[in-house]
Amino acid sequence: MPFNFAQIFQDDLITSMVRKTAYGLATTCVLGAAAYAGYCVAAPEKHQLRHYRHPELNDQIEKVLDSLKITDDQLEQIMHLLEEEMNAGLSPLTHHQAIVKMFPTYVRNIPNGTEIGQVLALDLGGTNFRVLLIDLRGNSRIELTSKIFLIPQSVMIGDGKRLFRHLAECLHEFMQKERILNTGVCYPIGFTFSFPCQQEGLASARLTAWTKGFDCSGVVNEDVVKLLQDAIDEKRINAKCVALINDTVGTLMACAYKDPSTAIGLILGTGTNACYIENLDKVGTWKGDYNEPKQVIINMEWGAFGDNGRLNLIRTKYDEEVDLSSMNPGKQIFEKMISGMYMGEIVRLIILDLLQQELLFLGHRDTYGDYKTPLYNRGGFYTKFVSTVEIDEGIQFSNTRRVLEDIGIRNPTYDDCAIVRHICRQVSKRAAKLAAAGLAVLINRIGRSNITVGVDGSLYRYHPRFKHNMERCMETLINKSIQFKLTLSDDGSGKGAAMVACLADDSLCKKSVVHNETTRD
Ligand code: ADP
Ligand code: MG
Repeated sequence: MPFNFAQIFQDDLITSMVRKTAYGLATTCVLGAAAYAGYCVAAPEKHQLRHYRHPELNDQIEKVLDSLKITDDQLEQIMHLLEEEMNAGLSPLTHHQAIVKMFPTYVRNIPNGTEIGQVLALDLGGTNFRVLLIDLRGNSRIELTSKIFLIPQSVMIGDGKRLFRHLAECLHEFMQKERILNTGVCYPIGFTFSFPCQQEGLASARLTAWTKGFDCSGVVNEDVVKLLQDAIDEKRINAKCVALINDTVGTLMACAYKDPSTAIGLILGTGTNACYIENLDKVGTWKGDYNEPKQVIINMEWGAFGDNGRLNLIRTKYDEEVDLSSMNPGKQIFEKMISGMYMGEIVRLIILDLLQQELLFLGHRDTYGDYKTPLYNRGGFYTKFVSTVEIDEGIQFSNTRRVLEDIGIRNPTYDDCAIVRHICRQVSKRAAKLAAAGLAVLINRIGRSNITVGVDGSLYRYHPRFKHNMERCMETLINKSIQFKLTLSDDGSGKGAAMVACLADDSLCKKSVVHNETTRD
């Protein structure tokens, strides 16, 4: 065959053209795919959800999730309602029937970092009980050792005396380990007791109602400090409870120790609640003196907001179901839409609803008949799963797959994972918006140019977007002249109790040293 240069040339030309076109196409494809993957990661949630699915199904899902959306107008309405409830709680004429109780705490001095002392703190917050030994070093430095104890379910709903005996036993064990038992020194205790209390002094507080799964008999209307002290004395422990606070106050105090512009304490843990520094002239229920500083920390007990139906405009059938199956139906309505004790359950109920409407886990009809799996059982979807799922950013869904496996769904599809993440995002975003609206009321009311909010609680601490979602919402609701900051108040409920105890008059404690020594002789 004759050698044909022209042919070679032409072949080469064609090959080269084909190659170039192929390269071009390949490059376009790669770039396009990369751009699309990037778009998927950064795209609004709806677009991720709509990928691959029949649009009608997605519309049906969106319809279900629409009930969770809160508009800006609704948020402003909620802020207005909350402020009305706050004023009702602060007025002596309406306090009695008020829903948001706005309890004055008797904590008026805010620490400044110069406090010195060795103090014990007890923290009964809901999920765990902690005992802490705290050394305030006087230069904004704090050293602490602590131990976590579990409160068995039987104790949480048993006899009240048994609960306080259990707390005293844990304290005894801790002090023995720290070698501070029977030393002749009486240690002051700051008791963080995070349940609604009508306070009658710094070391006197009557429980008004149990919340967060506790329901011990013989405690409501009783002085909780006295019940604790009786149990401590019964075990002959050298310690005296000199102050009772709740975790919001502890959080505010611990944050103020480092940042003097702190004026609000917020909890987003098992439950939710907030406290803030209020001027005495706005506290009609105040029974103490009017000396300087003319301010007192108000424990709002905002979890009860909505207990009179005022949040019905935004409640969904899932909220109603969570409430009905709780230990305190009709109570803590705001809390049940926000906090860690309930968030996972709301997600579980939505998943079940979508499943029953055949919008989710379509390929798993044969497995989802297994009613023993966590998916079908109350509490089966932990709130920490919401965080785990939302950590997934892209389209791999490795966390979401793990969580779904944990609740009994094996080999979920891409769509299943995308929908579950979408549900988690909507539920946690709604919670963040509601907490943000509450804070916005307080910040606008305090009105200082710079306000720091100390925040504590596992939901805030571990959820990957909660803080960001709150901040974004707060920016739209807070007066533009005010700068605000959300600061994680590390271990606030422990350290703050120690600070209040340290600031408290410890003369009672000194008397009890004498008493203890006398009885030993
Ligand atoms: P408490 O409020 O009892 O003092 P925490 O602040 O630790 O205790 O809050 C406990 C609550 O936080 C539980 O309801 C739990 O579901 C929730 N939680 C625990 N871990 C996480 C997490 N990783 N993400 C979101 N919520 C969490
Ligand atoms: Mg706590």
